Amino acid sequence: MRVAIAGAGLAGLSCAKYLADKGHTPIVYEARNVLGGKIAAWKDDEGDWYETGLHIFFGAYPNMLQLFKELNIEDRLQWKSHSMIFNQPEEPGSYSRFDFPDLPAPFNGVAAILSNNDMLTWPEKISFGLGLIPAMLRGQKYVEECDTKSWSDWLRSQNIPERVNDEVFIAMSKALNFINPDEISSTVLLTALNRFLQEKNGSRMAFLDGAPPERLCDPMVEYIQAHGGEVHLNRPLKKINLNNDNSVRSFQIGASSQEIKSEIHADAYVSALPVDIFKLLIPDPWKEIDIFKKLEGLRGVPVINIHLWFDRKLTDIDHLLFSRSPLLSVYADMSITCKEYEDPNRSMLELVFAPAKDWISASDEDIINATLEELKKLFPIHFTGENQAKLRKFKVVKTPLSVYKAIPGCQKIRPSQATPIKNFFLTGDYTMQRYLASMEGAVLSGKLCAEVVNEEESQISQSLAENKTIPD
Ligand SMILES: Cc1cc2nc3c(=O)[nH]c(=O)nc-3n(C[C@H](O)[C@H](O)[C@H](O)COP(=O)(O)OP(=O)(O)OC[C@H]3O[C@@H](n4cnc5c(N)ncnc54)[C@H](O)[C@@H]3O)c2cc1C
Repeated sequence: MRVAIAGAGLAGLSCAKYLADKGHTPIVYEARNVLGGKIAAWKDDEGDWYETGLHIFFGAYPNMLQLFKELNIEDRLQWKSHSMIFNQPEEPGSYSRFDFPDLPAPFNGVAAILSNNDMLTWPEKISFGLGLIPAMLRGQKYVEECDTKSWSDWLRSQNIPERVNDEVFIAMSKALNFINPDEISSTVLLTALNRFLQEKNGSRMAFLDGAPPERLCDPMVEYIQAHGGEVHLNRPLKKINLNNDNSVRSFQIGASSQEIKSEIHADAYVSALPVDIFKLLIPDPWKEIDIFKKLEGLRGVPVINIHLWFDRKLTDIDHLLFSRSPLLSVYADMSITCKEYEDPNRSMLELVFAPAKDWISASDEDIINATLEELKKLFPIHFTGENQAKLRKFKVVKTPLSVYKAIPGCQKIRPSQATPIKNFFLTGDYTMQRYLASMEGAVLSGKLCAEVVNEEESQISQSLAENKTIPD
């Protein structure tokens, strides 16, 4: 079958890759001139990369790791020590570590928590451990049921002290969905904790060794093309044209010249668009269909990714850091953590600015000034006295609608990859899969989508025959 896919983020490319594996012909149409969507990156005038987001790969990403294996690019993941490192706001410039020893899960996680005495007291650790028992015993079913509560409400319901939130989970919540624990669904945190506690290397982190469009998306495109598929940039989906029975007749694709066809016929059609953009393209006759109507409840959350190039090294830590600062979430010195961005003498900090709701419309200069104020607390010795670190240049990348905001109640409105429209399917991190809004979720959703398209082949052929549409 020829399958037209709109969107070349991880979900669209993953769907195309797995369709190609099943002998189908995927044709991907991407609106922008860059691959990757939320993992897109660009080079500045001096050849330095800047990215949509600081991206971390976890040991608990089985589908992503399998994809790296299938593309034969596993060596591009730079695994870091099995630790989680937090800044200590009360002691500027110092860090607190959770180090996971080489023990089976969950003992390595329990040992990491018990051996850290900087952040939680013993009574807090015990009450948190007791609170987690239902999640550990009842597993994913319990985790899904908790989607009625925010993380702060869940902690209260388990009698876990508020300080546990302040010390650990504000940082985790901002890292996972760019919002605070009062807003985030407890399902998100419990899903992550369950994976981290149940899989030995679940919380182990890796950085890609370079810019995601080149180091991850390009190999996916090469694979798709080698298996007969196509990927086209600068070709936005403009409209979904329908047959009389409401199945898809064609994709109206933006074309840069008259010679390029703009009405694309295929056997099956996939939206791999972000949910906010897909909602704008839902054809009128579909708007009252439950699965599409519910999408109104899913909306992207704003986030800002900041790059700061300094005249010297600010840290020697080869890892992700949880800033625990009010304006920032996680950050890393990419001149150390990422091979292609390496600089032996000068730091390039990449920082996630979140929650960004009140800052998304601010000027880049205001955002940078606010970030530098926070950095003075994180690196006091470099920002006081005579010989202070100088900012050489900066880049701010704003994403006003990024991953869907995972507030309570979202789980039941996330759509499946199959839809009631016979020849139309959905993929994207917001579609239903157990990894929420993440790179792993996007890759898994693409794989699941390819599976349903393949399974529905006979139904799709029947729909095609009924509508007498002749594929190109
Ligand atoms: C700042 C930031 C940090 C993050 N950090 C992490 C992390 O550390 N770990 C992690 O696992 N995840 C992280 N994520 C989340 C992760 O990036 C996303 O979950 C994932 O990349 C989403 O992939 P997707 O394919 O579902 O959507 P997208 O990447 O949004 O892909 C959709 C594609 O559709 C294209 N498109 C839009 N409109 C049209 C149109 N009309 N026609 C054709 N194409 C169109 C877009 O240009 C895009 O390429 C982060 C995200 C951000 C923003």
